[in-house]
Amino acid sequence: MRIVLMGPPGAGKGTQAVKVAESLQVPHISTGEIFRANLAAGTPLGLEAKRYMEAGEYVPDEVTNSMVAARLAEDDAANGFILDGYPRTLAQVDELDRILAGLGMQLDSVVEITADTEEVVARLLNRAKEQGRADDTEEVIRRRMDVYAEQTAPLVAVYTEKGLLRKVDGMGTMDEVTQRLLAALGH
Ligand code: AMP
Repeated sequence: MRIVLMGPPGAGKGTQAVKVAESLQVPHISTGEIFRANLAAGTPLGLEAKRYMEAGEYVPDEVTNSMVAARLAEDDAANGFILDGYPRTLAQVDELDRILAGLGMQLDSVVEITADTEEVVARLLNRAKEQGRADDTEEVIRRRMDVYAEQTAPLVAVYTEKGLLRKVDGMGTMDEVTQRLLAALGH
């Protein structure tokens, strides 16, 4: 199964992606996590991504696209994957199609986890307290929500048009949402 998981910051995308990937036995590929790992390791990619991440802005497409192309070409992605946090721009949608076509693959589904804005801001502020992520201050959280609305929300229409989009309600307990996701994916 080749799946893209979308949803606003704080909708539980990362947590759910891990669970769904476990159930379907495919790798969980999170661009945010790859950036954070590079940042922690002090690689050139991490240094390049840092200022964007800290401001709640998207890392430029050229940087993000080549990183994703390299990751999807790895052996473990051959039998499927859950992409978490990519694509996030219309240009990335086209790039993902190109990357997958080059690998002789195509997407099976795009799942959008929907969530109430105030609820997700509250969740993110809570996560900031627990994990101390640098991009979880209220100002940056609001910026990330705006960037999502401006640049990523339009992808919903594109994937609906392609006949790939499924919506899943992200409100409720973690297990309830996982069950809904698996059901939406036919499991
Ligand atoms: P996430 O963990 O998915 O919330 O991502 C954290 C941050 O990494 C985002 O706020 C962006 O700065 C950056 N990032 C992750 N995925 C992408 C992407 N597909 N395009 C551009 N920037 C990204």
